[in-house]
Amino acid sequence: LLGQTIGRFFDEACQRHGDRLALRVRHQDIRWSYAELKRQVDSLACGLRRLGLQPGERVGIWSQNRAEWVLMQFAAAKAGLVLVNINPGYRRAELEYALNKVQCRALVLSPSFKSSDYVAMIRDLAPELDHCQPGELSAARLPDLRWVVRMGQQALPGMLAFSQLLAAPSEQELAELRALGDTLQFDEAVNIQFTSGTTGYPKGATLSHHNILNNAWFVGAAMKLRPEDRLCIPVPLYHCFGMVMGSLCCVCHGAAMVFPGEGFDAEAVLETVEQERCTALHGVPTMFISLLDHPRFGEFDLTSLRTGIMAGSPCPVEVMRRVIERMHMAEVTICYGMTETSPVSLQSATDTPLAQRVSTVGCAHPHVEVKIVDAEGRIVPRGVSGELCVRGYSVMLGYWGDEEMTRAAIDAAGWMHSGDLAAMNEDGSVNIVGRVKDMVIRGGENVYPREIEEFLYRHPKIQEVQVIGVPDVRYGEELCAWIRLRDGEQASAEEIRAFCQGQIAHYKIPRYIEFVDSFPMTVTGKIQKYLMRRQMLEKLG
Ligand code: ATP
Ligand code: MG
Repeated sequence: LLGQTIGRFFDEACQRHGDRLALRVRHQDIRWSYAELKRQVDSLACGLRRLGLQPGERVGIWSQNRAEWVLMQFAAAKAGLVLVNINPGYRRAELEYALNKVQCRALVLSPSFKSSDYVAMIRDLAPELDHCQPGELSAARLPDLRWVVRMGQQALPGMLAFSQLLAAPSEQELAELRALGDTLQFDEAVNIQFTSGTTGYPKGATLSHHNILNNAWFVGAAMKLRPEDRLCIPVPLYHCFGMVMGSLCCVCHGAAMVFPGEGFDAEAVLETVEQERCTALHGVPTMFISLLDHPRFGEFDLTSLRTGIMAGSPCPVEVMRRVIERMHMAEVTICYGMTETSPVSLQSATDTPLAQRVSTVGCAHPHVEVKIVDAEGRIVPRGVSGELCVRGYSVMLGYWGDEEMTRAAIDAAGWMHSGDLAAMNEDGSVNIVGRVKDMVIRGGENVYPREIEEFLYRHPKIQEVQVIGVPDVRYGEELCAWIRLRDGEQASAEEIRAFCQGQIAHYKIPRYIEFVDSFPMTVTGKIQKYLMRRQMLEKLG
């Protein structure tokens, strides 16, 4: 394990890779070498220090993917601050909750994203901004917040412009920054990352330098990431997939990070991979599905791709096969992880045999213990499913400000309980069966939605499918499938059920079949089945 702070590691990496490309942001037309990235990060770290922010204080960032995000990630770490990733999809009330929950001192925000105006929302929450000097905010609803920094050149009343924080630092300021760096400890908090909110309210996981730096390192090692690699990152930086498995991972291995856009746009990703000759690509399964099914998919040259990561939700075998065959990602790997474990615990390697690589999430990472237990906490035999638990350097410090919830998740022996059902194979690789909360009990039979989804993905007309359980008087629960058909296709529920007849057990054939255009989804691209269930409840009465 590295036993270093992110700041120290970052400095060394920038030194080593000086002229190499570090950061390419297409939508901002930015192309920085490692040396340039370090220069900017140092300026920003000194800029943040000039605001009087003290080590350990929390600074929020509320933005989609932009260069400023990457700068903040490393500058905050160097200044000893705890960066708080705020969901770009949040609205006023959620922002207020998150900022107050972690007592943010400063908030850095992007001007706007899609149809939401971030500046308008913060001014609504803190009208005091209009008649205060920057740094002197004292808002009734945001009592801890002093500074609001707007990305860009333009300063608005009560706010700073991000560019003001990038003023060239003096030699003395740089020396002080180095001295501060020497006092920081690798096991201190550096980041509060919120979980995706797939099953309900997002939880703020407090992570240390040690947690995420090592995890980023091992993730890249399993992909054989090298300085020649260019990693396309369409997943949000606000989530660990973007900032640990993406940007931090690139710094760990001297590779270049390439951002195709602010949010996910399939065409922009395809174009970026072609134009930047990207060698690696990250995504959640739904992203890969929309790339593969994009009407112009065939027009792009993706032959530069070699590896990348699919993770975050169940990765259907069919999708993996198409990614390997049609996107040339022969060395694609699958990861299983959760925000609370920095995030990755299991990962396939680039040389894992194909059959294992498409159907399992690989084996435990180095220095991470994984066990699968029954309801009484006993380890189950290989092949039997139970709850997956993880222990090791990667387990978070805790949920910020929530002792009780932390104790419920991490037991006295240090095991993080995932809430996911899994089974371990003889060779140590693991199959994720599904979330405990998503398991359906129909007429006394346990049914795992994942299994039915995997089967339905074989239907040629189906682009995306999600299966849930809905309450039923007779059977306790009944199965319901939401299906999104490929462009221009039509199908009936009878046709889908006929496809299942004789192929899967009768009790696994969905009673309800809904054809939809979209699924309720988190900003990280995960399907929120609890919202699907809620909608079906309303519909069925
Ligand atoms: P919340 O905890 O707020 O409900 P979340 O669990 O989706 O949201 P994350 O920490 O982003 O928040 O995601 C971790 C979860 O994602 C895991 O517990 C697991 O259910 C799922 N997951 C991650 N990788 C995989 C994978 N490869 N296959 C199946 N599921 C996965
Ligand atoms: Mg979770």
